[in-house]
Amino acid sequence: MQKIIIIGGGAGGLELATDLGDKLGKTDKAQITLIDKNSYHLWKPLLHEVATGVLDEQVDNIFYAAQGQQHNFEFTQGTFTNLDRDQKQITIINHQDETLTIDYDILVIAIGSTSNDFGTPGVKEHCIFLDDQNAAIRLRETLINKFTSFCSIIDNDQSSEEDKIRIAIVGGGATGVELASELPHMVETFGACGRNKMCSDLLDVSVIEATDRILPALPEKTAASITKTLEKQGIHVLTKTMITKAESDGFYPKEGDTIKADIMIWTAGVKAPDYLKEIAGLESSRSNQLVVKPTLQTSRDDSIFVIGDCAYAMQDNGHASPPTAQAAHQMAKICYENIINILNNNPLKSFKYTDNGTIISLHDTAQGVVKIAGKSEMSVKGWFALIIHRLLYRMHQASLLGIFKAIRFARASKVMYKTKSTSIFSNRD
Ligand SMILES: Cc1cc2nc3c(=O)[nH]c(=O)nc-3n(C[C@H](O)[C@H](O)[C@H](O)COP(=O)(O)OP(=O)(O)OC[C@H]3O[C@@H](n4cnc5c(N)ncnc54)[C@H](O)[C@@H]3O)c2cc1C
Repeated sequence: MQKIIIIGGGAGGLELATDLGDKLGKTDKAQITLIDKNSYHLWKPLLHEVATGVLDEQVDNIFYAAQGQQHNFEFTQGTFTNLDRDQKQITIINHQDETLTIDYDILVIAIGSTSNDFGTPGVKEHCIFLDDQNAAIRLRETLINKFTSFCSIIDNDQSSEEDKIRIAIVGGGATGVELASELPHMVETFGACGRNKMCSDLLDVSVIEATDRILPALPEKTAASITKTLEKQGIHVLTKTMITKAESDGFYPKEGDTIKADIMIWTAGVKAPDYLKEIAGLESSRSNQLVVKPTLQTSRDDSIFVIGDCAYAMQDNGHASPPTAQAAHQMAKICYENIINILNNNPLKSFKYTDNGTIISLHDTAQGVVKIAGKSEMSVKGWFALIIHRLLYRMHQASLLGIFKAIRFARASKVMYKTKSTSIFSNRD
């Protein structure tokens, strides 16, 4: 029986493991194993909501072992550390710190990306990155601790008029903007939970961007409108501000004064993990992604597929497909078909990225563009855009759980959020 190993149960990897398990695992045509360093899946585009307490990871998670049991794949928790192409083996370190080697016939690498500090001094030491659920939970704790200690200062009447909680976010992409727009609401909710002197006026949030505007993936007009929405929320949008250094007191731009901050967050871009660079002699890009052919097999080894953020898949327009959940989902579908094609000795399909648009959620509203068949573009705004944004997550759940279970999951989550309405977790749907 063919051994198919998928490393990384994220937006791409878990959908692939589920589809392959349903098709091949069920009929014992192949043994499918998913490996992930965590025990549960949480859709990465929601991490800013975990960090700000809008979303409860304990409600919205999917345990890999349970998913595997229902969809005929095995799950091993462990961190991928090495690859031996000659022996067709990978090395992982499991959660008991033991080193294990696992054989494969077909390997899929889907380990996503990490934040890119572009070598900026001080960033690693002083900034928080929003790389995975653990980082999002840590950021939430940092924010709550900061709010709590600030409350004590107010309660003891030690604060002056100018005292504020200063949060600086570097990176005007979707992650930075969505995170910033949730922060005023988080403070208000915190205030409503008995800390009634806390309000969003006590927050000083900046989104810092090196280029001349935020959200380069969106048309200029839409980005300008989102900038206005952020400014209405009291968020400062600082464009043309290149950060050259981070220190414990804040960010140091190339020109102008230091941007003082109590909490410093870095969301200025992503790269594939450093250890992936030329791993086992595979070809990699400048940002450590593994170069793949249109079939999504690596350029130097047909038995290894790469999907999602860690894949460098060049498109006809001369650009690589972007590191988005949308691309990871589309790659998972082609990878699934190609693995079946290999087993059936059929010709392989080519991956062609279709851009379906981008929607940015801004707490209780959203804005962006929707593309029909990757071409004609339609601007969307307000509740309609918010519904589409929410639907994207529900569609991801439906591809993992099936449509009926996904509906039940959504209803169950709603009940949980209503029940927990006295906590910082507010009802997001
Ligand atoms: C806050 C935020 C908002 C975003 N918003 C959007 C959006 O609106 N639309 C959109 O399309 N995209 C969005 N993205 C980007 C999107 O989340 C990613 O592009 C997408 O998740 C990539 O999917 P993936 O399968 O490649 O990797 P991931 O979803 O990151 O999954 C990688 C998996 O690999 C596991 N892993 C990592 N390293 C190892 C290892 N060494 N060993 C074992 N397992 C490992 C991780 O635990 C994880 O489960 C957003 C990202 C963030 C952070």
